[in-house]
Amino acid sequence: MSATTTPIIKFINGEQIPIELHKVRIVQKLHLKPVEERLKAVREGGFNTFLLNTNDIFLDMLTDSGTNAMSDNQVASMLQADDAYAGSQSYYRMERALREVFGKHYVLPVHQGRAAENVISMTFISEGDVIPMNYHFTTTKAHMELNGGTILEIYTDEGLKIKSDHPFKGNIDTRQLVEVIDKYGPGHIPFIRFEASTNLIGGQPFSMANMREVRSIADQHGIMIVLDASLIGENAYFIKKREPEYKDASIKEILHEMCGMAEIVYFSSRKVSSTRGGGICTNSEELYLKMRDLVPLYEGFTTYGGMSVREIEAMAVGMIETLDETVISQSPSFIEYAVRELEKIGIPVVTPAGALGCHIDAMGFLPHVPQEEYPAGALAAALFIISGCRGMERGTISSVRDEDGNDILADVELLRLAFPRRVFTLSQTMFVIDRLHWLYQNRELVGGLKFVDEPEVLRFFMGRLDAVSDWPEKLMAKFRLDFGESL
Ligand SMILES: *Cc1c(COP(=O)(O)O)cnc(C)c1O
Repeated sequence: MSATTTPIIKFINGEQIPIELHKVRIVQKLHLKPVEERLKAVREGGFNTFLLNTNDIFLDMLTDSGTNAMSDNQVASMLQADDAYAGSQSYYRMERALREVFGKHYVLPVHQGRAAENVISMTFISEGDVIPMNYHFTTTKAHMELNGGTILEIYTDEGLKIKSDHPFKGNIDTRQLVEVIDKYGPGHIPFIRFEASTNLIGGQPFSMANMREVRSIADQHGIMIVLDASLIGENAYFIKKREPEYKDASIKEILHEMCGMAEIVYFSSRKVSSTRGGGICTNSEELYLKMRDLVPLYEGFTTYGGMSVREIEAMAVGMIETLDETVISQSPSFIEYAVRELEKIGIPVVTPAGALGCHIDAMGFLPHVPQEEYPAGALAAALFIISGCRGMERGTISSVRDEDGNDILADVELLRLAFPRRVFTLSQTMFVIDRLHWLYQNRELVGGLKFVDEPEVLRFFMGRLDAVSDWPEKLMAKFRLDFGESL
């Protein structure tokens, strides 16, 4: 029998190494530029890694969104796309795939995940409502608040701990859930939101047992559950690996059980299946009809929802591939490898290893940089300068200010290094670990950042910052001293 999940081998030196179960047939050339040019690029990009140009980047670990590798079958499927405004065969192929993967009959296509959030929020949230959830995602929160709702994060005590061995840090705290329902009343809670592989706290999954418990509480009060399935493949994989009851279950069985407990399942296809797009799925005709009319208004006709037919074809194939454990285990296995190696050299990193990326604790890495000077943003800039590797700040820069104009300090300051599915090789992974090691030994050279141009909404995307001192130049000088002429 062939391997059904990413094999881990014991290397000569005893190290555990994940093996790729795919071969690389189409490649893209990368550039590793000198440190001087990388520093120039960081300055031009306002110390915000979103504002870098990929020409200047060696390893792009900004996000897994729209950057997973496509399979040969996905690319091939794009050739059979059926161009039609309405009733395209491509759409029906995608609908069949979504029914098979999520076990939901009704499908509404949208152009990406946040568009699904717009439709759901506009339909179900009224002024004064509260929405309990394991943790928010940036666009989710923004859409819910735009519609007059307030998000309530009711994660467990383990959720925000950097170092933990809890297998399901994405769980909802059911005790808090009961309190929230008592306090606000079911009439002000349009739904409870579960986010698979909780993105902003380190790609941490919730357990089936937790979802079952939440479902039972929701049933007692007649409240719906909405599941954000953007990272559901990985959450299902972790349930199989970490929840003994599911060790022999197929990914499809696990997905159906999870989705069966939610009235509405929505997703960003940029994460699940490497193509732009998204969708909303439900088994309730009533809920479907409530949401349906917003799709032609905001997205496009209900058989394309703002996507091209080529994307729709690739999404259909990508969705089915999500059922294959050799596909969905690849990224978590590489992340686990990176987390283990970083822990060995003492770098503070979120454990247990989760989905989508490796999350470095910037406050632990740079204890001398005050949180008001954005340690996670500073660490992202510093890593780029010394390696050409682009990560993403997930800390206070990604937060907002209060009414008095003070930063609302984030619960955690993380530098996220995303591992898009099947994109990076093991030697590239080792390169990043090696540069992080050097940076950790020279961490006292890294200083803070300050805003120089700050947008009011989602400031982390377009905001520009500057270093609080000439620390970037000093860091570059030390790099030259230690690395000589090499890049
Ligand atoms: C990315 C993401 C979204 C938003 O999806 P887009 O396709 O980027 O609009 C929503 N929820 C989660 C959990 C995500 O990871």
